[in-house]
Amino acid sequence: MRHRIVIVGGGSAGISVAARLRRAGEEDIAVIEPDGFHYYQPLWTLVGGGYAALERTRRTEASVMPKGVRWVQDAAVELDPEAHVVATASGARIGYDVLVLCPGLELAWELVPGLAEAMATPQAASNYTAELAPKTFELVRRFRGGEAIFAAPGSPIKCPGAPQKAAYLACDRWQRSGTLASAKVTFSSGAGGIFGVPEFAAVLEGVVERYGIETRFGRELVEIDPDVRQATFESIGPEGKVRETLHYDLLHATPPQRAPGFVRESMLSSQTPFGWVPVDRHRLVHARYPDVFALGDACDAPTSKTGAAIRRQAPVVVANLLAFLAGRDPSARYDGYAACPFTTARGKMLLAEFDYSLSPHPTIPFIDTTRERYDMWLLKRYGLPAFYWNVMLRGFG
Ligand SMILES: Cc1cc2nc3c(=O)[nH]c(=O)nc-3n(C[C@H](O)[C@H](O)[C@H](O)COP(=O)(O)OP(=O)(O)OC[C@H]3O[C@@H](n4cnc5c(N)ncnc54)[C@H](O)[C@@H]3O)c2cc1C
Repeated sequence: MRHRIVIVGGGSAGISVAARLRRAGEEDIAVIEPDGFHYYQPLWTLVGGGYAALERTRRTEASVMPKGVRWVQDAAVELDPEAHVVATASGARIGYDVLVLCPGLELAWELVPGLAEAMATPQAASNYTAELAPKTFELVRRFRGGEAIFAAPGSPIKCPGAPQKAAYLACDRWQRSGTLASAKVTFSSGAGGIFGVPEFAAVLEGVVERYGIETRFGRELVEIDPDVRQATFESIGPEGKVRETLHYDLLHATPPQRAPGFVRESMLSSQTPFGWVPVDRHRLVHARYPDVFALGDACDAPTSKTGAAIRRQAPVVVANLLAFLAGRDPSARYDGYAACPFTTARGKMLLAEFDYSLSPHPTIPFIDTTRERYDMWLLKRYGLPAFYWNVMLRGFG
């Protein structure tokens, strides 16, 4: 089996690229994707907040696969860039002229002892999976006061704003019901601060203050004891590592994340513990193999791992891939654009758009997106999902 273009992963990135390539007239494209469903993950925040149903985030993979693209419903298990071959779980070996690597990332629950076990208890949930996002809302709805912890790792994760969005939507609900007064809410993160772009960080600090959330930065979640509901965090102090244990009645946890195992174990990995695919951050071509491109959560482009970033990466990958096939130098450039829609309350959203320079990069004319807005909430709830399914996945936008 051989194809001119092989795409590994039929998620946000894979389908966007495949659709654009079809529009550009490419006829021999295969997408390797094992899952029968495709998810619009950004809406999981609103599922956890109680403002969207899980079914709204899911469509069949067949329905999003562009016409004329061969869907190989199988998992890639081995990448051999020297032989230009991808091996799959069912034993197929698929050759390529160009490879697009975008299998997303892996949630590494097992890196925090007790975390996976905690998720099976009635006190813990996470918006990071389709199964657990509805549980977040159940916990928030049932919470009658006590200690609530929202924890996030400091290492790269998809949508780095999502852990705090979960806290804001919960606090907003508790404020409306009167529960917030009897709650101690902690946002604990391995990162050094609330957000990397100062203009938006200032607004978010105001939101944190409004809800009375205690923030604890530079604290990495390292262990959970679900039986006694204790979460242990580690920080680096002047005298070395310091551990502290907090009790919780409600825990929303974001697991550490890394490239999928078959990527980490391949020659296409960066050989770092997280194993992201190393790319030229502007041209998105692999650091060592000119016939391999990578985008989305799996690549090491130093920006926020978001669907918004993929919207800008996909046209660059397609232009550079076509240039490569035509024997030209890949010259299209990605500027690091990413966006994080911070849902700060029901009916309020702060749209943080930025690029590699970590300065605001607004794309919506005439309105001030550096403050919380109702129209941006409507964009998040209705506009962006419609844009995703009807425009981005169809190779426009
Ligand atoms: C709670 C949450 C909130 C978010 N909020 C936002 C937001 O507000 N805005 C925003 O822009 N982004 C947001 N994101 C991030 C966004 O969803 C991701 O960045 C985006 O989906 C990444 O696209 P991708 O194609 O790289 O990976 P994915 O969309 O995850 O797709 C990867 C695909 O690869 C497949 N795959 C895995 N292993 C293999 C294999 N071995 N072989 C072949 N295929 C494989 C998977 O089945 C999957 O279909 C959020 C994410 C979460 C979890």
